[in-house]
Amino acid sequence: MTARVEMGHLLLLAGTAEARALASRLSEIPGLKVTASLAGVTSEPAPIAAETRRGGFGGAAGLAEYLRTHAIAAVIDATHPFAARMATNAALACTATAIPRLRLIRPAWPPIGDWRDFPDLTAAAAALPAHAHALLTTGRKETAPFAARTDLTCLLRVIEPLTDLPPHITQLTARPPFALDDELALMRTHAITHLVSKNAGGAGRAKLDAAARLAIPILMVARSAPPPGPLAATVAEAVAWATETVGIGA
Ligand code: NAP
Repeated sequence: MTARVEMGHLLLLAGTAEARALASRLSEIPGLKVTASLAGVTSEPAPIAAETRRGGFGGAAGLAEYLRTHAIAAVIDATHPFAARMATNAALACTATAIPRLRLIRPAWPPIGDWRDFPDLTAAAAALPAHAHALLTTGRKETAPFAARTDLTCLLRVIEPLTDLPPHITQLTARPPFALDDELALMRTHAITHLVSKNAGGAGRAKLDAAARLAIPILMVARSAPPPGPLAATVAEAVAWATETVGIGA
């Protein structure tokens, strides 16, 4: 029988499909304790195969304190590619505490169709022509640039409904994944003229294929560079880093 050895405590900054997949893989490593952390934005998050805490840490200083208090041996930041604040805080806190940190970040989508890159949502919103009917797959946080464009109509796709949207922004609540046929039907039914997206990468690219097929311009917000430090593009690479960094034995 294999003896169970407590090797170390890993903090997994979660909130993505990759984080869930990684938690499942890490749970198979004997003796490795994993705590997953969720921001607490989604009221019913998908289940994750690790002990889970919810809510912010209180900035980089709060996270550093958490790392010390819980004797964290390593951090894997598997938050969304656009969760820039959490990524920066994780980098600062791990530097301050000399705890190894890996950023797991899935590759960006390569351009397809009539694709235009923008540095942020404000620039993308400003580039939409008057009277466009845009499908916004940009999340719930930054609706202000589109709310200010009362000469547009927008269909905003969100997982959970928002309150206080202006009348020219209609919301559509739906939970991914979305198949290509469904994306084509959505764009046709709503006579979408433009797609606005953030370059999240990963499985949700059917909307891009649909827009390209329908010759709908794609206004894509590019990612900012991750903080300096080791990067993994896949769950397998992150598992390898964790076993190497925290140690694996019997
Ligand atoms: P953010 O702007 O980078 O972070 C804002 C604040 O939320 C952070 O400073 C931190 O608060 C807290 N936070 C973020 N991720 C956390 C985590 N995993 N555990 C504990 N606290 C966390 O992040 P965001 O863009 O609001 O995203 C929030 C969460 O939603 C992330 O976990 C991300 O993976 C997920 N998500 C984001 C997007 C997106 O488009 N941004 C899309 C899908 C999922 P404190 O400073 O108090 O520690």
